[in-house]
Amino acid sequence: MDVRVEEVRKEFDRFAALHAVSLEIGSGELLALLGPSGSGKTTLLRLIAGLERPTSGRIFFGDEDASEKSVQERNIGFVFQHYALFRHMSVLENVAFGLKVRPRSTRPPAGEIRRRALELLDLVQLAGLEKRYPNQLSGGQRQRVALARALAIEPRVLLLDEPFGALDAQVRRELRKWLREIHERTGHTTVFVTHDQEEALELADRLCVMSQGRIEQVGTPDSVYDTPSSPFVFGFIGESSVLPVRVEKGGIRLDEHPIGISGPEAEGPARLFFRPHDIELVEDEAGLAGVVAGSRRVGGTRRVELDIGEAAHRVEIDLPFDHPATERSRIAFRPKRWKIFTEA
Ligand code: ADP
Ligand code: MG
Repeated sequence: MDVRVEEVRKEFDRFAALHAVSLEIGSGELLALLGPSGSGKTTLLRLIAGLERPTSGRIFFGDEDASEKSVQERNIGFVFQHYALFRHMSVLENVAFGLKVRPRSTRPPAGEIRRRALELLDLVQLAGLEKRYPNQLSGGQRQRVALARALAIEPRVLLLDEPFGALDAQVRRELRKWLREIHERTGHTTVFVTHDQEEALELADRLCVMSQGRIEQVGTPDSVYDTPSSPFVFGFIGESSVLPVRVEKGGIRLDEHPIGISGPEAEGPARLFFRPHDIELVEDEAGLAGVVAGSRRVGGTRRVELDIGEAAHRVEIDLPFDHPATERSRIAFRPKRWKIFTEA
């Protein structure tokens, strides 16, 4: 393990931004911290960096307790959402900055610093732009300079806080791919904060899903997507439809009607989750049946809103684009995979 966060709690005044969070980050891993705004992602990142001190708990780098160490001592590379480049410095000077300010004993000679900065600019595909100033660059280029600057110090850990958050969708998608490639070439242990699940699913080796100052689930993108461990994670990662059901000895019921789905042991009110694309149409009405309330195009499929049962519970399912259903058509389907969470 490269970084170990142990029971770390953080309070601001009396407000707990993080509740005793524990997390391990493997050496060379790219971990995404994913959660809605206010869930504590930035706070956790700042604690790992040493920009904040935990109210309680400890942070280890390898076997070493880093809890009392400064940002410099931890040797952290940091990239923020808003370009924190030095405006009065050229691109080259920005990238070289972290090495230039080192104490003389550990500072490489000027020629070596320049060589390394140029090498990094090449790595982030900005060769030739070293003389420009930040205001002569696009947003995406600035974030690439910020990354080169963070990498220049050969950080022990690279921390990225929504680095592409301020860029438009197209540039973000490009930078995502590019960051993954850079990561594969440089192999830094990296923590990447985002509220964008698509970005996290595509980029990360593992996801850490957060909500309200707690870790909800940690796992590979596939395992979190396929087996969400809570209603929050099911709803937050990927698309989902939800129905209020009852678990009874004889099976799962919706509005008193059995729906041909098996569930957990515990009886009582529950919520049935499934993915709109993960369904099959059935001929009989033994599954779930509803009336089409509307539809829209989502990529190459047709997402249909269905009102199910007497209470007209609204769910969404995906149909082939050329499916003939029109408004008020009746459709019966069964989720192919689902998850039932009983209410506490
Ligand atoms: P995220 O990055 O997931 O959006 P943050 O870690 O920034 O969330 O914030 C988590 C919670 O802690 C929020 O409710 C936020 O208002 C609060 N918080 C963060 N930093 C401070 C601070 N310096 N003082 C007071 N409250 C803070
Ligand atoms: Mg944040």
